[in-house]
Amino acid sequence: MKRINCDVLIIGAGGAGLRAAIEAKETLKKGKIVLVSKGGVGRSGVTATACSDRMAFHATLPYTEPGGPDNWKYHAEDIYRIGGYVSDGDLAMILAKEAQAAFEYLDHLGVPFVKKENGRVDQFITDGSDYARACYTGPRTANHIEEALLKKISSMDMVIIENCMIADLIQYRGRVIGALGIDQREEGSIENRLRVFSSKTTILATGGAGEAFKIHVFPEEMTGDGYAMAYRAGAELVNMEFIQIGPASIKTRLNCSGSLMRAVPRFVNENGKEFLKKYLPESMTCKDINNLIFEKGASWPVSLEKRTHLIDVAMFKEMVQGHRIFLDYTTNPESFSFQDLDQKWQDRYRREIKRPISSQQREQTPLDRLSEINPESIDWLKQHGIDLRSGEPIEIAPCIQHFQGGVKIRKKGNASLKGLYAAGECAGGQHGANRPGGNALLDGQVFGKIAGREAATEAITKSRHEISINQVKGYLKQWMTRNQGKKATEVRKEIQSVAARYASIVRTEEGLKEGIRIIQSLRKEGVRIDEKGVSFALETQNLLDVAEMILKACITRKESRGPHLFFNRFEDLHPLPSQDPRWRKYIVIQNQSGRMVLRKETPVSLRFQSKE
Ligand SMILES: Cc1cc2nc3c(=O)[nH]c(=O)nc-3n(C[C@H](O)[C@H](O)[C@H](O)COP(=O)(O)OP(=O)(O)OC[C@H]3O[C@@H](n4cnc5c(N)ncnc54)[C@H](O)[C@@H]3O)c2cc1C
Repeated sequence: MKRINCDVLIIGAGGAGLRAAIEAKETLKKGKIVLVSKGGVGRSGVTATACSDRMAFHATLPYTEPGGPDNWKYHAEDIYRIGGYVSDGDLAMILAKEAQAAFEYLDHLGVPFVKKENGRVDQFITDGSDYARACYTGPRTANHIEEALLKKISSMDMVIIENCMIADLIQYRGRVIGALGIDQREEGSIENRLRVFSSKTTILATGGAGEAFKIHVFPEEMTGDGYAMAYRAGAELVNMEFIQIGPASIKTRLNCSGSLMRAVPRFVNENGKEFLKKYLPESMTCKDINNLIFEKGASWPVSLEKRTHLIDVAMFKEMVQGHRIFLDYTTNPESFSFQDLDQKWQDRYRREIKRPISSQQREQTPLDRLSEINPESIDWLKQHGIDLRSGEPIEIAPCIQHFQGGVKIRKKGNASLKGLYAAGECAGGQHGANRPGGNALLDGQVFGKIAGREAATEAITKSRHEISINQVKGYLKQWMTRNQGKKATEVRKEIQSVAARYASIVRTEEGLKEGIRIIQSLRKEGVRIDEKGVSFALETQNLLDVAEMILKACITRKESRGPHLFFNRFEDLHPLPSQDPRWRKYIVIQNQSGRMVLRKETPVSLRFQSKE
């Protein structure tokens, strides 16, 4: 066992954790700041590894649409209104107001944001936004942010501990006083690998929990450890039912939106049969369906507020029938004609033309159209093992990409437990049901900075508590009970199946009840440490907590909103409507003496003061 004492402990080294660490050190120059990461720093977590066709960082700059000194207010309003009025308005205001400073900091650190000839940043519109706010470097914007922050940190006096999984937070009289971790590299007994961190304040920046679901675009180590340990320690969590899900390639993890939809491919199953029509209202003609496919290009994540959710529902239902699903670019969908697309879609298509073809050829196949508007995507897919030119289809599925909710924070990045802060995807309350694309990377920077500053400021006034050996033994005892029960590998597979079946696109009361029943019986049976080791078992235990929070939040929200599509019966064509304003509430989850308690609360509304 090793003891590590510090002023501020930061758990997680993605965009949020790194930003928090920098700010903590700058606030507490003589203080000891310790940054711990489960994987290698700069090699683990989403910020360091994720990419997509063009990753977005939202910022309202002085010249950003719609312009004027109040343009940040539109940004705050988008986060709050498009988020479905279930986030805290004051946090939305902080995000929007601080976006310029967050952008300028990264720009100053050397993140290569694309700029126009006049020196202004090139910004585009993302899913769910009304104005062009997305700054980008290309497909690897997040990775560039991680690299720049890491470079900055390497010149600072800070302790960085890699390959150490924090497994639990430790409390004393209602205050978080540190954490327990396990070194993941060392051979030997668990006692030898144990790390005991005593801190004055602690920041959770452990990212999301993609691994709770069968198919996701997260790295595998993203098991929601922060959500689970905060829950066990008694902190409040919020908005756990709001998870971003959209169609992605299973093989390459590429999100299939934008031009991949605007080329209007066929949605087929493994038998080559088109299936969308089966699950859509009878009144929809082939022309309507082809227009809907085109429209899906502009709304990747499923959302009640976008009628393209009908496509996500159809995909999901076809998969539940036991089918695999594909995008086929060799042949047009039934009765397709480019001329039948609505004029606004034809105009949009024309604006994207890169390698013009004749109008006759445009009518021929989805591949012809894709080669006209995005030839690079065809080459990219070939390099990653999918050859559209030889007729290969893209196998897709609804994939999990982002958790909108998390550990409930307030304006200082503070959680409901004393001494605890959270930032980035681990935190909740700053985003609502829908998250306009680009605001997650922003959020890590804004609240990472705030949490770092506030945790360091609080540490100045607090003294450190020694963690007693008895406390450590208590946790160890709990962990070591894992030599009975079901093998961790099997439990994890079952959790993923339950979440994918009952908490994905189509949610019903009946299904969610069944999901909760299975999770609770897995919990009763216990998670046995298997050949994958102790950390894998502890992660799996965390996934049980996370899955139960998601399922219970889903079953509590008896309406649809954002990605939460709640159906009366699985067979129904349409989800229940949103029940404004009765349900302009968020669901807060808390562990009270071992019982998972959920309650509805009214969020802080968005109100601008007259002088703001
Ligand atoms: C494919 C993809 C595309 C995306 N595109 C966009 C986009 O265009 N715009 C946008 O705004 N957002 C986007 N997002 C979301 C956004 O990238 C993430 O929300 C954000 O990067 C999360 O940053 P983070 O710092 O909170 O967590 P992460 O970057 O995931 O970092 C988490 C850190 O915590 C560590 N950790 C985890 N558990 C433990 C533990 N128990 N102990 C110690 N350390 C631990 C990990 O090792 C890692 O260092 C995308 C996400 C994906 C997956």
